[in-house]
Amino acid sequence: MKRRDFVKGALAATAAAGLGGCTREMIEGKKSFHSARRKRVTLKIATSWPANFPIMGTGVDHFAKMVEAMSGGSLIIKVYPKNILVPALAVFDATSSGQIDGFHSGPYYWKGKNPAFALFSGLPMGMVASELKCWMDYGGGYDLWRELYGRYNLYPFMGGNTGVQMGGWFRKPIESLSDLHGLKMRIPGLGGEVMAKLGVNPILLPAGEIYTALERGTIDATEWVGPALDIRMGFYKVAPYYYTGFHEPGSILELTFNKKRFESLSDEHRAILAQAAEAMTTRMYHEFIDQNARALKKLKKLGVRIYDFPNDVIEAAKKAVKEVVDEQSAKSEDFKRVYASMAAYARLVEPWTEISEGRYLQIR
Ligand code: CA
Repeated sequence: MKRRDFVKGALAATAAAGLGGCTREMIEGKKSFHSARRKRVTLKIATSWPANFPIMGTGVDHFAKMVEAMSGGSLIIKVYPKNILVPALAVFDATSSGQIDGFHSGPYYWKGKNPAFALFSGLPMGMVASELKCWMDYGGGYDLWRELYGRYNLYPFMGGNTGVQMGGWFRKPIESLSDLHGLKMRIPGLGGEVMAKLGVNPILLPAGEIYTALERGTIDATEWVGPALDIRMGFYKVAPYYYTGFHEPGSILELTFNKKRFESLSDEHRAILAQAAEAMTTRMYHEFIDQNARALKKLKKLGVRIYDFPNDVIEAAKKAVKEVVDEQSAKSEDFKRVYASMAAYARLVEPWTEISEGRYLQIR
């Protein structure tokens, strides 16, 4: 028996058993009241993270609890960590096809489907988290993202932001651009393409293999996220030079639904999901700041020193970003459009950031 039939049956039974003497209007009224209350909807959401993964995984669990509470128990989110229902990087296709109802992951994982998707994670040397959020909400970012994902029957929301990521862990110090030449580094996304232009050999490795590769010298460097998640990986033990970053200045995480499924929900449930996603985005971003600050303190106690890339690396990286953007724009009309929107918004918002937080941070 389908759930809907069951609910209908239950309602008919309730009406027959308990509502004798009521007028027809009253019964109809009760019926719609009961069906609104009792029609419980369940959405299956898979993530690209292991169970209880700090900040990103636990943030989705918290989202599910919020949705249940906000909806008075009428909307239930069942969260499946990676590889339970579908493999970590199969969540996009599984949601697109309707096998599951949604996923939590990162847009740059899908750049093989459309190079423009990488931009919805942010751009090396580009806008920071707060600016990217403004681009999404007020600068046309969401419209483009939803248009392009719509082709895959998907409806995306932001679902967090990592903030500025660290540049990574190196086995040897980087004192000039030439020290990067021939280095094997685990680094994904557009950041990897930029590093390739600087002479680095970018490599992709599953999370579980990075530490050993670094320890054995199979790779010379790796980036990961920031102190909070990096410290758990133990990279400081085998690659003690920890650099500040430019390659992921505010990586957006996504909470994406099957579009048809999302549109089939009531207005109330859609509004709850939208607001809970908004809350998750804010909460996750700030939890990253808090956890990174705590982990940075621990790393310093462990003797880890923080380095900045030398100026020639930064200058070369800025040039390389431009080259990567030009190449991708020449290959993909979508990339060109999304980049144009992003760049126009950056030109608008960055001057304000510079004279507000930028100046203040210089004098604080
Ligand atoms: Ca990263």
